[in-house]
Amino acid sequence: MKRVFLIIGAPGSGKTTYAEIIAKKHSDKIVHYSTGELLRKEVEKGTPLGAIIASYIDEGKLVPLEIVMDTIINAIKNSDKDIILIDGFPRSVEQMKAFDEILKKNPDIKLEAVIEVVVSEETAKERVLGRGRGADDKEEVFENRMKVYLDPLPEIEKFYEQKGLLIKVDGEKSIEEVVKEIEKIIFSKIKEQ
Ligand code: AMP
Repeated sequence: MKRVFLIIGAPGSGKTTYAEIIAKKHSDKIVHYSTGELLRKEVEKGTPLGAIIASYIDEGKLVPLEIVMDTIINAIKNSDKDIILIDGFPRSVEQMKAFDEILKKNPDIKLEAVIEVVVSEETAKERVLGRGRGADDKEEVFENRMKVYLDPLPEIEKFYEQKGLLIKVDGEKSIEEVVKEIEKIIFSKIKEQ
């Protein structure tokens, strides 16, 4: 049984950092995939698919549904560990619904929780502009990415809240504190069975 934890949060919320730290610490049983990183890896390969992906990332736009779903499904199916953290997914209502269909068809994949890392827009902006990772960390692109993140959020929250899967954590705290909180959530869910 593959047990999936989704970690969502604004650009700059630190979602990838937290998940990375946790997966490294428990590398015997936990694996982590960042949707953004998986997509950027395809760009680095210089494939035609990578060029399509880059044209969306550079403008802070969402990569098309089919590409994202393939990326996520492959990551889950090919992972050699049963506990899987995925950050940056879902980022739209259509991705959320498509993933729900996948879960319905695959009883060997279980969604354990959707962890939302909450930060203020100011904190998000400060962190993103400070890191300057690439073309998408510029101010205008940041504004667009923030909008793209916030628009579908209420519907995504409602959907997972109704399923009893949504857990919010305060991303304004120190990295150590946020990591500890997310770890606690993961291990309490794992112990349930
Ligand atoms: P991130 O590393 O999470 O900040 O993501 C960087 C960029 O990758 C985003 O601005 C999108 O262009 C793309 N991306 C990441 N996750 C997704 C997703 N779930 N759906 C569509 N595009 C995504």
